[in-house]
Amino acid sequence: MTEDKSRERSKIKILQPCHKVADTTNMIWVCDGAANVGQIGHNVGVMLTNDERGRICCITAIAAGSKPHTDIALRAKKNIAINDCANRCASKVLEKAVVKIGYEIELSKYLQKIPTLDFYEADVNHIAEVVSREAKL
Ligand code: SF4
Repeated sequence: MTEDKSRERSKIKILQPCHKVADTTNMIWVCDGAANVGQIGHNVGVMLTNDERGRICCITAIAAGSKPHTDIALRAKKNIAINDCANRCASKVLEKAVVKIGYEIELSKYLQKIPTLDFYEADVNHIAEVVSREAKL
């Protein structure tokens, strides 16, 4: 491994496993849609996790019927659903698992949904602020 690559590795932030922190943590579930709003929603989850305002977790696992992941949501301090459009897929997955949602947002109320994976960092910052303020993270 080159020196540069080991420096990159030293910057990696290791997170606590979701099941260990769920009881005391705002768990963040993002729909990860395949459009600009999906990429923004994902990066909002990453930003809030790295800022230790919450912890992004695998919503696809809940949709696939994973009991450990459903248990994480059932035990969470608060569940934050980040939906990227009016279909509310993240919220629907949680609702089907009979999980209480503490806060939910639809990004397409704030931003135009466009079929691209490119996005502006400023939109990520703006939505992260909205979620943080409204969900009291
Ligand atoms: S809420 Fe919208 S953007 Fe997100 S997964 Fe569902 S259809 Fe896709």
